[in-house]
Amino acid sequence: MSLIVQKFGGSSVANAERVFNVADIVTSTYKEGNNVIVVVSAQGDTTDDLIEKAKEINPHASKREMDMLLATGEQISISLLAMAIEKLGYPVVSLTGWQAGMVTDSNYSNSRIRKINTERVMLELDKRNIVIVAGFQGINRYDDITTLGRGGSDTSAVALAAACHADLCEIYTDVDGVYTTDPRIVPDAKKLDEISYDEMLELASLGANVLHNRSVEMAKKYNVNLCVRSSLTRAKGTVVKEAVKVEGMLVRGVTKDNDVARISLCGIEDTPGKAFRIFSLLAKKNINVDIILQSIGRDNKKDISFTVAESHIDEALKIIEENKEIIGYETMSYTTKVSKVSIVGAGMVTNAGVAARMFEALYEAQINIHMIATSEIKVSVLIDEGYEAKAVKAIHDKFELA
Ligand code: ADP
Ligand code: ASP
Ligand code: MG
Repeated sequence: MSLIVQKFGGSSVANAERVFNVADIVTSTYKEGNNVIVVVSAQGDTTDDLIEKAKEINPHASKREMDMLLATGEQISISLLAMAIEKLGYPVVSLTGWQAGMVTDSNYSNSRIRKINTERVMLELDKRNIVIVAGFQGINRYDDITTLGRGGSDTSAVALAAACHADLCEIYTDVDGVYTTDPRIVPDAKKLDEISYDEMLELASLGANVLHNRSVEMAKKYNVNLCVRSSLTRAKGTVVKEAVKVEGMLVRGVTKDNDVARISLCGIEDTPGKAFRIFSLLAKKNINVDIILQSIGRDNKKDISFTVAESHIDEALKIIEENKEIIGYETMSYTTKVSKVSIVGAGMVTNAGVAARMFEALYEAQINIHMIATSEIKVSVLIDEGYEAKAVKAIHDKFELA
């Protein structure tokens, strides 16, 4: 008997018909003699709608209360799906994150899973129940409800698969796998049969929301058998695994991220310790800094520009303003009207000219580059907001990924 974790995203459970479609997939897997743990997200746009509701009341609500609110979305889906499966005549039980033993840290709205106490889930599986667990949510050591960050249900699923030693973790969504780029931007993007954990982790971290980046991190760490497929077509999907044959494929995928803002500090004194000050202040508040650019400097002064998630901009600006004396800069400016476009591929390490080819594509499309960052398996550029779809298409064409 195998243990299979199946995760269904918001669009897969958006209405009654879709809920029954999911119930169908789950019960067929169960009927084949498998134990099944199901993780579900909130229906359709429920999470966005809840955020809007909160804004009407208090746009500066605490993260703790936001988590309390947002976690309700998943609670609706688990109960509805359980009711559908009951109706089909199968034994089923729905569990909240807390009931499923999902323990997280206290970083409300973006918590990390600390451990999973699997007793309850295992007990239910032993009784041959189909176990439905609310994605995206957990509980911290103060017994407060926490959430794992947008898209976090993928991480709930992979974490459960790791903790319960599942044989397979299937992520069902509204596309039939991982593509060379978002098929909604480039319709002739190609579905990948397989992709390595490392490449998928980069793609997810750089904006491909088909998988939550922490779910990939977790899958790699615990060697979880992971696949992405469609709940509607039920086609074969994409396998995410350790190593994948490169076969001369330099660039595996292209992705964009609009949740980016750039901050520039000008006239910083050219002495040791300035970068340390700025970035340690931000790190203390859990603000991730991405692309960093420092000028050579003139007249004993230099400038530093860097990017943060747009959702962190207010907090970042506040920290920098409050520490103006300590950091010692003359002026600060920022913009949220930028986007990041990246290429990812394990084959890039050993190949010269990959970055140049990307820049050529951008030049031909007359798109200006503001900042550049590279690593062994990616190249990212910062460009003006609004040009990202054009950039992705141009780069996708240049590398002949279709
Ligand atoms: P779910 O609600 O099932 O979690 P998401 O909306 O979070 O679904 O993720 C699926 C979406 O990810 C797709 O509809 C697609 O537009 C987008 N996406 C972005 N990049 C890619 C990619 N490289 N391959 C496939 N889908 C992608
Ligand atoms: N419902 C949450 C969100 O919309 C979690 C998820 O879908 O994975 O972000
Ligand atoms: Mg998702």
